[in-house]
Amino acid sequence: ALVTALAACGGSGAGGGAGAGDGESKAPEDIQVGVAMPTETSERWIADGASVKKQLEEAGYTVDLQFANDDIPTQQQQIDQMITKGDDILVVASIDGTALSTQLQAAADANIPIIAYDRLINGTENVDFYVTFDNYNVGVQQATSLLTGLGLLDADGKKTDKKGPLNVELFAGSIDDNNAHFFWKGAMDTLQPYLDDKTIVVKSGQTDIQQAATLRWSQEEAQSRMEDLITAHYAGGKTKIDGILSPFDGISRGVITALSNAGYGKTMKAGLPVVTGQDAEIASVKLIDDGVQYSTIFKDTRKLATQAVDAVKAYAGGGEPEANDTETYDNGKKVVPSFLLDSDIVIKDNIKSLLVDSEYYTAEEVKAGQ
Ligand code: BGC
Repeated sequence: ALVTALAACGGSGAGGGAGAGDGESKAPEDIQVGVAMPTETSERWIADGASVKKQLEEAGYTVDLQFANDDIPTQQQQIDQMITKGDDILVVASIDGTALSTQLQAAADANIPIIAYDRLINGTENVDFYVTFDNYNVGVQQATSLLTGLGLLDADGKKTDKKGPLNVELFAGSIDDNNAHFFWKGAMDTLQPYLDDKTIVVKSGQTDIQQAATLRWSQEEAQSRMEDLITAHYAGGKTKIDGILSPFDGISRGVITALSNAGYGKTMKAGLPVVTGQDAEIASVKLIDDGVQYSTIFKDTRKLATQAVDAVKAYAGGGEPEANDTETYDNGKKVVPSFLLDSDIVIKDNIKSLLVDSEYYTAEEVKAGQ
């Protein structure tokens, strides 16, 4: 598309040919890549930023890495600046997937290819490629691990003869993040049969993503919603909570704090519910190792970075990156060609095989939680 658009306007982009998306090949040392990451408050994005930067630099590119402190105007400004600075290719993990249309139009006008990183950017034609994980499947994995932790599925994923009702509360991610909807859908499709036959009961009745959402994936907001749920629906100790669907380790930690403050104990053995998560953040991996949090989902950010770098290389070489999915990610203006990676469920038993043996963390880091 870039090549065609360019041919139509005579060969040189509006940005004076600064962009790499002109179908011509450029040497890595002539290319500066702008990398816009959402926040440094969650370690996954720090790891993503570091991996992308390292791998791009190893390939010879110059890297302009920015973190936006989870603030939308900051991210808009950073991308504006990347364009004025003459960055040739952009890799963007958005905060709000709908808030970047103006910036991306300017980038497209300057003939700059845009790669959406992990989170889809919505409502614009100007996103050329998307690298991510199979986000629906992440939600399936979260719900599956919840069912396993609750004893409703065995280790092989088969239904056990355990009967409910079991009390579960549901948390979703940030409503402005496209991924939150995929995680939720995957999880709810998996839980629905158990909700239908009342093996699982959500006493609060909050089974809609709007009710369950956690703006900016905030740990504090999750803790306070959990406190409210306990007060409103589980006070007096008559009914206890058996499980929590959580879509992100930060949310899980907020939830666990609220539950243990309310007397649920410090570990699952002592009465804490089964709590899921995502990202294999080191603090949560330690909690899993200590029997506090039940599970998390490991998304290997090194592999995602490699996909982003491969996409950069393809554009720098005047070509197009190779997609393995061309139908799932409709952003409202186009279906964005995507490359989806797999993720893994982590529980106490496989911390070593998944996280330590792959050198994502050392055994010492797992013990220390940092
Ligand atoms: C990412 C998750 C992450 C969440 C919060 C999502 O867009 O896909 O891996 O847990 O943002 O940072």
